[in-house]
Amino acid sequence: MRCRRLALGLGFCLLLGIALFFLRMYVENWLPFSYVPYYLPCPEIFNMKLQYKGEKPFQPVTRSLYPQPKLLEQRPTELLTLTPWLAPIVSEGTFDPELLQHIYQPLNLTIGVTVFAVGKYTRFIKHFLESAERFFMQGYRVRYYVFTNDPAAVPRVPLGPGRGLSTIPIQKHSCWEEISMCRMETISQHIAKTAHQEVDYLFCLNVDMVFRNPWGPETLGDLVAAIHPGYYTVPRQQFPYERRHVSTAFVADGEGDFYYGGAVFGGRVARVYEFTRGCHMAILADKANGIMAAWQEESHLNRRFLLHKPSKVLSPEYLWDDRKPQPPSLKLIRFSTLNKATGWLRS
Ligand code: UDP
Repeated sequence: MRCRRLALGLGFCLLLGIALFFLRMYVENWLPFSYVPYYLPCPEIFNMKLQYKGEKPFQPVTRSLYPQPKLLEQRPTELLTLTPWLAPIVSEGTFDPELLQHIYQPLNLTIGVTVFAVGKYTRFIKHFLESAERFFMQGYRVRYYVFTNDPAAVPRVPLGPGRGLSTIPIQKHSCWEEISMCRMETISQHIAKTAHQEVDYLFCLNVDMVFRNPWGPETLGDLVAAIHPGYYTVPRQQFPYERRHVSTAFVADGEGDFYYGGAVFGGRVARVYEFTRGCHMAILADKANGIMAAWQEESHLNRRFLLHKPSKVLSPEYLWDDRKPQPPSLKLIRFSTLNKATGWLRS
């Protein structure tokens, strides 16, 4: 009797199992597909979700029309100090370095810096690092990430306490536009692999530049952009944005806040990850359509900053060009592009 009951029970379970299996197959066939096709060259970074400490996703600003903010709006020697979306514009005299030191020093922050030195650009590393050791984030923990195709060419520059350097080998692309374009992809991948566990903030800088004056915690913010030294006095219609509608970097004539330089951007590492990932995806979409934006990566950066407004803006003190005389509106130059033979470097 007992054996019969047991056999009946088992039979019933087996039948139920088979029925559930077929029901699942039927429902699966009936539901619409929900997978992401893997046609992108690096699907893993698009699907990866990094584990940050309880952060809310950032919403982009929707498109709207408003007057252009002008850095030299009030007087020719006085810079604007606040954007229309209430982000501080950092320049000498707008902050108290001692007070900021008191606030940020106890936080024991680590600040990362990425630089790319591919091909002939390796010659700039020494000068860049030496000047950074003098002026960049003095008294803070700093981690330099040098991306290069020639690790042997990275010089041994003595680093201060709490400061370190990692050399990351990368391949050399055939043309300089491609070298510049692949930076967003490389940075986002590096953040996903290691940097998100090593640094709190990350600045992405050009290597053919030099620090001339202190660059400190006044520059720290969620998402940081720097105003390009060539366009801070011109109307937005003259900004060299990508103007072709077919490009994902397109910006209309009546849009634009400041023209930002691709040589300096940064912020909290989580925000820089989202930012570089977003730019990389836009670059990939353009590539798929056979388009290279007018100023490559810089065009995509400008487009993204238009919808994802920076929370802090650095004045051209933090991104100057040695080929230009220092204007009276800038009290000091902190970081500047070297006067270099561009044609030869890119050849
Ligand atoms: N870069 C490089 N090798 C090249 C071209 C560019 O390493 O052949 C890197 C380098 O860090 C440089 C940055 O990409 O500072 C931006 O280069 P780009 O040519 O866009 O601007 P540049 O600073 O030369 O005006």
